[in-house]
Amino acid sequence: MMSKTIKKVGVLTSGGDSPGMNAAIRSVVRTCAYHNIECAGIYRGYQGMIEGDFIPMGPRTVHNIINKGGTILKSARSKEFMTVEGRKKAHDQLVNAGIDALVVIGGDGSFTGAEIFNKEFNFPVMGIPGTIDNDIFGTSHTLGYDTALNTVVECIDKIRDTASSHNRLFFVEVMGRDAGHIALNAGIGGGAEEVLIPEEELGLERLLESLKKSKAAGKSSSIVVIAEGDKIGKNVFELKDYVEANLPEYEIRVSVLGHMQRGGAPSCFDRVLASRLGVKAVESLLEGKSNFMVGMLSDKVTLTPLLQAIKGESVIDRELLRVSEIMSV
Ligand code: ATP
Repeated sequence: MMSKTIKKVGVLTSGGDSPGMNAAIRSVVRTCAYHNIECAGIYRGYQGMIEGDFIPMGPRTVHNIINKGGTILKSARSKEFMTVEGRKKAHDQLVNAGIDALVVIGGDGSFTGAEIFNKEFNFPVMGIPGTIDNDIFGTSHTLGYDTALNTVVECIDKIRDTASSHNRLFFVEVMGRDAGHIALNAGIGGGAEEVLIPEEELGLERLLESLKKSKAAGKSSSIVVIAEGDKIGKNVFELKDYVEANLPEYEIRVSVLGHMQRGGAPSCFDRVLASRLGVKAVESLLEGKSNFMVGMLSDKVTLTPLLQAIKGESVIDRELLRVSEIMSV
């Protein structure tokens, strides 16, 4: 049964923004209203928490945001929150405002902050994974990942039109500093010839071999999707120079998709995921649970201890690598 000890939940977004964060805020606010408890929005992540930048949020304050990218609460990175003094200030602000539990929507850095805060002040916290990179352990999907994939595939489709009209080779750089989830899945979905990801030591020689093979197989244009943190360690422009020097018959164009991958209206998948995770986060707090990340595994909403979510590794599915290879035969 739900305990009534929690009367007011604070919600914040922290770290890089991602599509679906607004839908998660909406879900947290409305779940609080449903259970007749108060909800306060905290602006600019932990920095706003330190400064007491709070706003009361009722169910009507979150109308028309389920379809919006970014975060209405703004996000920030806070150096001050990395210090004991900063966190003490933040705790004082929460206590003064009568906030007695916290939902943190962000990536693993934000979860680390939440975990430390929980330990220091025995303050109830719940994490919701919001990052397009999908690099968090304990959930098959983070908020914004599905939307980012769809954005990238749409871009690849457009680039393909040009590539095939001019018989060109395109290198498309996508986000994913430590994780190749976007590159691998969008590569398969966009029909890429090759995918270079941080988890795999593909090697320059293999890339050249693969491009030679595709030329021999009669392909006149190709798309190579490259995660920004790929193992080869060269940036996408250095890669272009290297391949052009070794395969002079290729004319290569580079397209760095950049921040457009972070924006835009969240996909239906992300909206539903955000709604489910928000409900679970608030209801788990009301059940007296704390220090978990709410995630989704095998289409079930689950709780993973925050520390495990931070420390665990979100691994690439090897089967996808094989599928990608087979598809570019
Ligand atoms: P992204 O996926 O976009 O990187 P993130 O949540 O990992 O998102 P970070 O910039 O790493 O983003 O972390 C966000 C904020 O969390 C930091 O600015 C800081 O305020 C807080 N934070 C991160 N690490 C710690 C830590 N070790 N101790 C206290 N607070 C931290």
